[in-house]
Amino acid sequence: MSTLVTNIGELVTNDPAADDLLGLRTDAAVVIDGGLVTWVGAASAAPAADEVIDVGGAAVLPGFVDSHSHLVFAGDRAPEFRARMAGESYAAGGIRTTVAATRAASDADLEAGVARLVAEMRSQGTTTVEIKSGYGLTVDDEARSLRIASAFTTETTFLGAHVVPPEYADDPAGYVALVTGPMLTAAAPYARWIDVFCERGAFDADQARAILSAGAALGLRGRLHANQLGPGPGVQLAAELGLAAVDHCTYLSDDDVHALRDTETVATLLPGVEFSTRQPYPDARSLVDAGVTVALASDCNPGSSYTSSLPFCIALAVRDMGLTPAEAVWAATAGGAEALGRSDVGSLVPGSRADLVLLDAPSHVHLAYRPGVPLVARTWVS
Ligand SMILES: [Zn+2]
Repeated sequence: MSTLVTNIGELVTNDPAADDLLGLRTDAAVVIDGGLVTWVGAASAAPAADEVIDVGGAAVLPGFVDSHSHLVFAGDRAPEFRARMAGESYAAGGIRTTVAATRAASDADLEAGVARLVAEMRSQGTTTVEIKSGYGLTVDDEARSLRIASAFTTETTFLGAHVVPPEYADDPAGYVALVTGPMLTAAAPYARWIDVFCERGAFDADQARAILSAGAALGLRGRLHANQLGPGPGVQLAAELGLAAVDHCTYLSDDDVHALRDTETVATLLPGVEFSTRQPYPDARSLVDAGVTVALASDCNPGSSYTSSLPFCIALAVRDMGLTPAEAVWAATAGGAEALGRSDVGSLVPGSRADLVLLDAPSHVHLAYRPGVPLVARTWVS
């Protein structure tokens, strides 16, 4: 059955052939059929369809593509957040609190948690989400986390190298051998990607290289958490290896920016983390000005960024990271799609998946202009 969505006051297409970044169209219409966008154009020229939805002049965007989240976990860390807001600093070791709770949880509890957060995301306009493991850190618990995640998305990421679990505290090399051996073998059937937390207190560049290389041998494409808590080698490693994305990029040197500029690697910025850890925001402006492709993602997780809202991240990126509203919206849609190597989402052109967001607002600017307001009126997911 075909559906005509018409009387769109402002349509964000992200059409790369357009003159402006967002490929904006006014007084527009879209036809969707069989889960795909089949026609985009002026409302006055729209073809007939089986069903017509008049959106009354509101804005329509591609569904948000959240390319970085950690939704498979149990427990919460509100006390840690409260302490941090009272002046304590964030350290990678807090992850172990969630690992203990996750290992102790039933499959049903973990599934219910992911379902709840995916529904939250959906109600805020996210139509594609990447979900990582990384709170199991045993062979069985990592495979279980990815099996659960794969019921919700095809964009699943093995993050056995999130942090060294307590039982390997004296033997990090032994843990890397586990991650690159039996854990990877058990995780790979459920994972599309492999990721490493390359940070002081987690894994160094040599360990990250070994883990990504082992994943690549089983067909898993690489991505990295890097330069979140301080300067480090991760961004340049990601550029050197030509990874799809390097995520966080909070502390960047000029050399890091230059390295990214010459690659296809997307810099994925996660401003919910800086909001909730009181770290400085990454310099999105200098990345965009250098020609680096930037994505925005939630990093939804119970420790450092417990938001599921890309509209919130867009508002932060505009207010505190120097992006224009158009750049921030592009980063949360087309940028996220590039970070996942996807050309079928993140834009609304003929052939795109029919993943659309209707705002209760006349333009995309309102996502930053009206922070914290539930502007997503409806989401279509193909
Ligand atoms: Zn993360």
